[in-house]
Amino acid sequence: MRPHHSALALSSGIIAAVQAASLSLADICTIAYTRSALPISEEPGLGITIDASSVTVSLTTNKTVSSNWYPSTVIDYCTVTFAYSHKGLDNDTVQVSYLVPPTEKFRNRYLSTGGGGLAINSGTRSTPSGVIVGAVAGITDGGFGSFNTQFDAVFLLANGTVNWQATYMFGYQAHHELAVLGKQFARNLFKTPENEKIYAYYQGCSEGGREGWSQAQRFAGQFDGLVTGAPAFRFSQLQTNHLSGGVLEETMGYYPPPCELEKIRNLTIAACDGLDGKVDGVVARSDLCKLVFDYEKTIGEPYHCPASSGGGGFPGNTRGPGGTTKRQFPGSGPTPEQNGTVTAKGVAIAKAFTEGLIDSRGKRIYLNPQPSSNFADAQTTWNADKGAWEILPSGFGGGWVTRFLNLQDKSNLDSLKGVTVDQLRDWMAFGMQKYYDSLQTTWPTLGSFQAAGGKILHVHGEEDSSIPAASSVHYYESVRKVMHGDLSYREGTKALDDFYRLYIVPGGEHCSANSAQPNGGWPMTTLQTVIKWVEEGVAPATLNNTGKGISSICRWPLRPFWTGNGTKFDCVFDQRSVDSWMYTLDAFDFPVY
Ligand code: CA
Repeated sequence: MRPHHSALALSSGIIAAVQAASLSLADICTIAYTRSALPISEEPGLGITIDASSVTVSLTTNKTVSSNWYPSTVIDYCTVTFAYSHKGLDNDTVQVSYLVPPTEKFRNRYLSTGGGGLAINSGTRSTPSGVIVGAVAGITDGGFGSFNTQFDAVFLLANGTVNWQATYMFGYQAHHELAVLGKQFARNLFKTPENEKIYAYYQGCSEGGREGWSQAQRFAGQFDGLVTGAPAFRFSQLQTNHLSGGVLEETMGYYPPPCELEKIRNLTIAACDGLDGKVDGVVARSDLCKLVFDYEKTIGEPYHCPASSGGGGFPGNTRGPGGTTKRQFPGSGPTPEQNGTVTAKGVAIAKAFTEGLIDSRGKRIYLNPQPSSNFADAQTTWNADKGAWEILPSGFGGGWVTRFLNLQDKSNLDSLKGVTVDQLRDWMAFGMQKYYDSLQTTWPTLGSFQAAGGKILHVHGEEDSSIPAASSVHYYESVRKVMHGDLSYREGTKALDDFYRLYIVPGGEHCSANSAQPNGGWPMTTLQTVIKWVEEGVAPATLNNTGKGISSICRWPLRPFWTGNGTKFDCVFDQRSVDSWMYTLDAFDFPVY
């Protein structure tokens, strides 16, 4: 039986709270104090042992932080890192690291943050978002050996042998543990009484977006609010699909110079910009663009790009969008001057790429980025020896096949020659089945999450060239159909509005604003917005945006539209547009949510 709180226990709780309130960040940021606050998990399912001797602390003051996901701010924090192991596993060490705000800034909040590419964390790029809102903010290393070790480095124990512990840790388990420990640690650090709630949040984009969904789909009540950006879910389809542009080009036998595809893209932006009712360099209605713009109109238009000494990719070993690394985006060597006119073959590639993969029976396999997006997955590389453009397999797609499907310690396919669209379909199906309960992350029913009071803000750049925006729409619509298929379309989306809202960022790229459509902006205060929804019950009709002249982001299925020569902004319902975002993935004879 649970004992009643005695007056003594209550008053000692108050004294403890007062003591915690008087602690400076320097007082907190000691090994002795943080060790005394280590969580002792009461979750019987976790099966972990914390190593108290592993605690490290480091104090940071007056640090200027900035990101797409929070306004530039100067913050103080203490970084506390410790390790734990899973009972019954040998040589198992998982490290977690938490940024702790000063006592006077703490607002009874905890935040988990995620990674990008095949990284399970984003180092210290995402966690400041939590400190800014008075949260203890955590990352995990997944047990992969260090905070910089990515999942693919530990995925195989040997050729043919999967490290399933690492796979499930990456899939969802590490984040579950990070959150359970983090919430308790935050409570202990600030001696928050048991009768006060610690609000728990999640924020991540790309792989980090998938990690957020992996939690919402499994652990109702763990997070009160999540911000999931451009999630890398439907993992097998997504990764395999990165090969779709290359397979198209090999099949058609045409390797468009990058300048040609860039010209087609720029002409598309110019032609479709005004369809949203405002000429501002932003294609806020790529759906109308898809319905009315004809790539054929670009044939014969001249293009020119000067020679380049190379580079591209991401400098050094720093991470690119969503935590991707140089290995996945290798950049390019020197390229020659490109001078020509847009060809019928180039347009055929652009058209087929935008249409998305269709198998040899005419059935739809998958979907691709919206028109006016960069053709990233169709990007060719200059082969100086041959004096010709060629397609190299995407590292994400090729590595998915060699390492995760064929189980070979090999980071990419040698070539795409002979690979058919049907082969891509079959790879997708194989990987989906193999990793259905670890990486796929498309469980479509969220009733438990909703019942526990959780809220999700799901955001996606409309012109994301890495993870198509339509991928997020497809999941949202799967959830709607599974949970509310008995309701009309509008009633179904209204029912989801209670706890799950999707926002498509006009012109947005992958987890960031788009350099090709700079006025589009990015929603920089999503965490603040979900906090307001959770803690004050203020559900966001639109998201605040940094875009020049686009201050609001409409929530799906409403779409932005300006009238009065771009003076009056509205979020409108347009059935034809909504329909253009819908895909039936009938190349698979089982549901692909
Ligand atoms: Ca526009």
